[in-house]
Amino acid sequence: MTVPILQLRDVRKTYFGGAVEVHAVHDVSLSIEEGEYVAIMGPSGSGKSTLMNILGCLDSPTSGTYELAGVDVSGMDEVELAQVRNRRIGFVFQQFNLLTSLPAWRNVELPLGYAGLSRAERKTRALRALERVGLADRVDHKPGQLSGGQQQRVAVARALVTDPAMILADEPTGNLDSRSTEDVLTLFAELHQAGRTIVLITHEAEVAAVAGRVIRIRDGQVDQRDPAGAR
Ligand code: ADP
Ligand code: MG
Repeated sequence: MTVPILQLRDVRKTYFGGAVEVHAVHDVSLSIEEGEYVAIMGPSGSGKSTLMNILGCLDSPTSGTYELAGVDVSGMDEVELAQVRNRRIGFVFQQFNLLTSLPAWRNVELPLGYAGLSRAERKTRALRALERVGLADRVDHKPGQLSGGQQQRVAVARALVTDPAMILADEPTGNLDSRSTEDVLTLFAELHQAGRTIVLITHEAEVAAVAGRVIRIRDGQVDQRDPAGAR
């Protein structure tokens, strides 16, 4: 039997501020299984970032429930959410978000700072993750000495190093040329082959096409004309 790694039920996010309430996401129910590769696609303003923040435990829904790896995280406070985030989710962002003063391996070991591991063990794991993304020969390079595609691969290594339940990528190819885009998508495909759960958020149909399933969102809702997404 397949296990849902995440499950949203009737999730709504309403922003209160100024004169109007914005229902950025509403009536969203969806489930993603362990080992799935899912793209969440929608035009600008459709609610992708709002949904990403909820999926990534960066924000809580206004109503509805969100279970991640069997745990209801919807009622958690900031501190609890931060713990779940650090342990369970590997993030990849459009802007790489690497620390420019640190070499690649130090960037990759950062998420392990909270894990109570020895210095030596942290370094070993960081080097292994960099090897996994094909950067064994660049571990001492700083981000400025790497190409965009290589920097994003360092970010993927950083996302992998904690052995997370899910890799959550927000427009990971948005700042890359077509060659580097291909590199990064090939890497995601390999990770999926190896059993990783990947959720990739994008507005580009060509990028979404590499996933096993595409969930389309429009005006804050899962597009019901899309049978796969409604699952
Ligand atoms: P996308 O990432 O698909 O472009 P967003 O999730 O950023 O979409 O935004 C969805 C809707 O919610 C938009 O109408 C946007 O203006 C609104 N919105 C997003 N963030 C906020 C906020 N912090 N306060 C008020 N409205 C917001
Ligand atoms: Mg966005």
